[in-house]
Amino acid sequence: MNDLTCIIIGGGHAGLGALKAIKEKTRRIANGRQIRFVLIDKQPGHMRKVLLFRPAVGEEEIMIPWTHYEFSEGVEFVQGMVTFVDSGEKQIRYTDAQGNDVRIHYDLLVVTVGSVVRQPDPNQGGISLTDLQSAAVIRECWRANLRQAVGETNPKERNRLMTVAVAGAGISGVETSAELALEMQKEASALGLNPSEISVYLLNGQERLFLEGPKKVGRKLNQILGECGVTVLYNCKAMWEEAGVVMLNNGDRLPVGLCIWTIGLIPNPALRTMGLPLTPDGQVLVDESYRVQGAPGVYSIGDCTRIVDPKTGKADGMRCADCGLQADRLGKIVIADLEGRTAPVHKSSSSIMDLFCIGLGENRGLVWGRKWGLNMVITGKPAWKFRNIAWKAGSKLL
Ligand SMILES: Cc1cc2nc3c(=O)[nH]c(=O)nc-3n(C[C@H](O)[C@H](O)[C@H](O)COP(=O)(O)OP(=O)(O)OC[C@H]3O[C@@H](n4cnc5c(N)ncnc54)[C@H](O)[C@@H]3O)c2cc1C
Repeated sequence: MNDLTCIIIGGGHAGLGALKAIKEKTRRIANGRQIRFVLIDKQPGHMRKVLLFRPAVGEEEIMIPWTHYEFSEGVEFVQGMVTFVDSGEKQIRYTDAQGNDVRIHYDLLVVTVGSVVRQPDPNQGGISLTDLQSAAVIRECWRANLRQAVGETNPKERNRLMTVAVAGAGISGVETSAELALEMQKEASALGLNPSEISVYLLNGQERLFLEGPKKVGRKLNQILGECGVTVLYNCKAMWEEAGVVMLNNGDRLPVGLCIWTIGLIPNPALRTMGLPLTPDGQVLVDESYRVQGAPGVYSIGDCTRIVDPKTGKADGMRCADCGLQADRLGKIVIADLEGRTAPVHKSSSSIMDLFCIGLGENRGLVWGRKWGLNMVITGKPAWKFRNIAWKAGSKLL
């Protein structure tokens, strides 16, 4: 009998988890047929997207080769950009690394092409933290500014060179600003500058931080950020950056050496032409067991998918933590579907427990959880350890 081909498009946090879960659950056999696994990604390895701010701050490598993973044994990894899913013919089309157009048949398909970082209009200036290239540009920019500040005799200009604005105060903006402030202070000391002259502003359009949890957690976050050297400006949005000045929505002008945008995620725009059913926002439409509507054998999870808890009606957010739970469940769904059994249905992570962890630089962090109406807050070194475990778990490194 022929092999079954299971293709996973996208080896991000969701795709990697899906590959592991389906491989482990099926043990590579379904109804007596061997399963051949193929993972297609436009990148040469798994990018730890949740750590994207690290290469903007230092030299950390956040790309992991596929072969690093034990569960990669026997899996074919293809570098290519998928352009279309032909669910009638059960084929996908992709452009390979050499630019050739290729078609490949699937029996099972998992779409996990994720999200991209939202970008402001190009004429709004600044740099968005979107990928490894922009992270490197950001790193070079603030470092060059500090080197220039060493010889700068005009105190106003020196202050500007030592100032960064991070626009957007979601978890990614919070983590970016904290680690950046600490690293800039270190670098300033090494260059003989006064580290207390480093200013990192986190521009928050809301009246408080961390809208996902209670006010007091937002206040705690504000306090820890202050200890890192980050000043949070509330009800404050960057309108544009030009020639070293950020124009704020209240009319103030903030002189900066660099403005970094961290304004959230949107579903991968490549989905618009991929041939799959989408919500108006551009996420793949699936049923309660992640099956893509009208496309037999096709599943979708992660940031690119609109996943709703049938009991609560609540949709999952674009969160790495949710991807892990979805991927584990998908393994059980796929084996149940293959064996003709009733498959599990989606349950949102918040119906199990609300849990958020935030890293705020070496040995600093904040973990907030809520269960049965009871709040739990952990800070300091234990929170940092927890955060590191979550980062590793998201990339299947535990
Ligand atoms: C800076 C930053 C910090 C974050 N911090 C947190 C956090 O603290 N906690 C949290 O829970 N979440 C966080 N997130 C969100 C988290 O990164 C996402 O929820 C998670 O990455 C979603 O995983 P995914 O696999 O669905 O998509 P992605 O991680 O976007 O992976 C998609 C994969 O598909 C590939 N791909 C895309 N298009 C194609 C194509 N056409 N053909 C082939 N391959 C393709 C990509 O190369 C990528 O490997 C953060 C995001 C960012 C940007």
